[in-house]
Amino acid sequence: MEIELNKETKINQIDFKNLSFGETFSDHMFICEYINGEWIDPKITPYKPILLDPSVSALHYGQSVFEGMKAYKDNNGKVWLFRPKENWERLNKSCKRMKIPEVPEEYFINGLKKLISIDSSWVQPGLGNSLYIRPFVFASQATVQASPSNEYKFIIICSPAKSYYNSSQFNVLIAEEFSRAADGGVGYAKAAGNYGGSFYPTSIAQEKGYHQVIWTDANEHKYIEEAGTMNVFVRIQDTLITAPINDRILDGITRKSVIQIAKDLGIKIEVRPISIDELVNASNNGSLKEIFGAGTAVVIIPITGFGYKNLDYKIESLENPYAEKLKKTITDIQYNISDDPYNWRMEI
Ligand SMILES: *Cc1c(COP(=O)(O)O)cnc(C)c1O
Repeated sequence: MEIELNKETKINQIDFKNLSFGETFSDHMFICEYINGEWIDPKITPYKPILLDPSVSALHYGQSVFEGMKAYKDNNGKVWLFRPKENWERLNKSCKRMKIPEVPEEYFINGLKKLISIDSSWVQPGLGNSLYIRPFVFASQATVQASPSNEYKFIIICSPAKSYYNSSQFNVLIAEEFSRAADGGVGYAKAAGNYGGSFYPTSIAQEKGYHQVIWTDANEHKYIEEAGTMNVFVRIQDTLITAPINDRILDGITRKSVIQIAKDLGIKIEVRPISIDELVNASNNGSLKEIFGAGTAVVIIPITGFGYKNLDYKIESLENPYAEKLKKTITDIQYNISDDPYNWRMEI
C-alpha cells in the first residue's frame, strides 16, 4: 500500500467538544480503484477533494453504496473497532445488489486498520467520543450509459464524533403514506439512494415537530420496520420485540448485538413483525414500556413518543430501562471496559 502523509495536521484546529456530526474530517483517507476488472492501487493520501468527470454514473444513476462504523479509544489509549468484518460483509452484500464489484477483504480491513492507525489521534478518549468511519464505493466511469459502470472507487474517510442525536426528547411519526423500501427493492442494502429518498418524508415529519419517521411495510403500512436510519425495538411488558430482517430492513450490526446481549442478559426477546395496532393497543393499556432505535451512530436511543393518525402517544420513562442496560453492555465492550465474550472487538 502506498502511503502519502499529510504535511500538516489539522487536529489542533478542531474543537472536539463542539463537533457537529459529519462535518469535520481527519487528516487522511484510503482510496483504491476498480479498473479493467480488478481492484488496484490501494493508497493512503491526505484527505482532499477528488476530481470527477461530470458524467460519472454514480451521480446520474446512484450506483453507490456505503458503510458506517466507529473506532473507539480505551483508557490506555488503545484503539478498537467493533465487528468490522460484519461491515465488510455487508458492504459486499450491498455491492452485489447494486451490481458493483465486491471489495476484497484485505483492501477493506487492511485499508481501515492502516488509516485508523495513522489517524489514531483523531479518536478521542472518553465514553461517547469516537471516530466515525465512512467506507463507500461508487461508480466512477465517465458515461451516461444506463448500465453498470466498469470503473469504481472505494474510499474510506473518517470524521470525529460525539453522540449523534443529543436530544432528551425523541419523537417519531409512523409513516402512513411514504415508504423507505419495498419488497424486491434495495432496502436491505446500504444504497446511497435509500437515504436520498428518505429526506423528503423525514422533512415533512420534522415540520410537524417529530424527529424521525418510523417506516412501515410498503404494502399495507400496518407493520413497523425501522426508525429513521436505525432498527427499532419495542418492549411490551418484559418482552423485547424487533422485526425480522427482510428485503426492506437493513441488517444492522447494532440490532444483531442487541439481540445477542438481550438473550444473554435473560431478557425475553421475540423476532417477529410488530403491527401498529399492537403498538397502539399496548400504549393504550399501559403495557408498552419502551421503544428504542438501534444503530452505530447512537448505539441505542430511547423513543419518547410516537404520532399516528393525528394522535400522539407518549412513552413514560421508567427506572432501569432495557435501553440503558443494553447500551451500557455494548459500549463497555466497544470501549474495552468489559470483557468481550463474543470476540467483537478488533484492536488497531
Ligand atoms: C446503517 C443502517 C442501520 C443500522 O445499522 P448498524 O450496523 O447497526 O449501524 C439501520 N437501518 C438502516 C436503514 C441503515 O442504513
